[in-house]
Amino acid sequence: MSGTFRAIQINKTDDKQTAALVELSDADLMDGDVTVDVSHSTLNYKDGLALTAKAPIIRKFPLTPGIDFAGTVSASDNPDYKAGDAVILNGWGVGEGHSGGFAERARVKGDWLVKMPDGMTAAQAMAIGTAGYTSMLCVMALEDAGVTPDSGEILVTGAAGGVGSVAIAILSKLGYSVTASTGRTSEEAFLKGLGASSIIDREEFNTPPKPLAKSRWAGCVDAVGSTTLANVLSQMNYGGAVAACGLAQGMDLPASVAPFILRGVKLLGVDSVMCPKPRREQAWARLSQDLDMAKLDSLTSHIKLDDVIAAGADIISGKVRGRIVVDIA
Ligand code: NDP
Repeated sequence: MSGTFRAIQINKTDDKQTAALVELSDADLMDGDVTVDVSHSTLNYKDGLALTAKAPIIRKFPLTPGIDFAGTVSASDNPDYKAGDAVILNGWGVGEGHSGGFAERARVKGDWLVKMPDGMTAAQAMAIGTAGYTSMLCVMALEDAGVTPDSGEILVTGAAGGVGSVAIAILSKLGYSVTASTGRTSEEAFLKGLGASSIIDREEFNTPPKPLAKSRWAGCVDAVGSTTLANVLSQMNYGGAVAACGLAQGMDLPASVAPFILRGVKLLGVDSVMCPKPRREQAWARLSQDLDMAKLDSLTSHIKLDDVIAAGADIISGKVRGRIVVDIA
């Protein structure tokens, strides 16, 4: 193992944040008890925010962004891991306050790692990435709230994005009937290929929300927040549930309590970053069985470490379809 490796690094001088591809040495690795040769990473919306400095994601400088990685353990002082183990990392503040996945090497706490599920490759794990693993957490939240394929129609917002596209693929494999809400109606064939039965223009959810509207949805995976989520809540069936994980439209929620107190609607918050390890392991095990890997391939594109900075701007401007894997090795 050579002492140097390539990495994206974010610096801040005079309040201005810059990102560059640089060569680092092992002395630059952060504290941790497991060192990983990173073979793949992935680009998430949060990584785009970090790379473009559109939101204060990076809390320490200099830092390597990238909230996910997959690779092989090269050295370990943690009893749960040994050299050669295939591992996945999502969240825990990696790529925010601890150097992350846009690098050929990373050192982290072993407690943050999940072992690669049997039969899953590092490229597939990163095609799923935080976005896809969050989709699974959302589906699990709906299931815990009693939503089943017999309950009725499920809405997925931000459908052509990472969370949305994987959520459609999972839900359709589980037998749910799924409506995809998108601003890119040109992606109808793509979304139907993933398993959506119908497509709805996202502008329908962008009108001033009423306290209650006609009931339409038994469940929803919402990656968008804001006015969209407020409208969705007003359209939920009696006892329906919304798994809310995103803020692509905004962090606000201009809603009323009417859906909760008059229809028993449940609003389920989903966080992937600090999600406890047993729930993560359950989500990854479910992904290896409940996600059609051929569909995952159809929603994934690949870039190199050299392309990451430009792709960060693309995901923020809504130009990215599905998931992007960063081939690092
Ligand atoms: P993407 O950028 O891949 O997808 C977001 C999608 O949201 C877009 O593709 C677009 O879908 C839709 N969208 C974008 N802007 C707007 C808008 N102004 N109004 C309505 N819809 C819009 O991001 P991800 O799928 O990776 O992430 C989605 C959200 O989930 C983000 O806010 C992200 O931060 C959050 N997230 C949260 C996690 C958690 O732990 N809670 C983990 C992972 C992600 P379309 O083109 O189909 O309309």
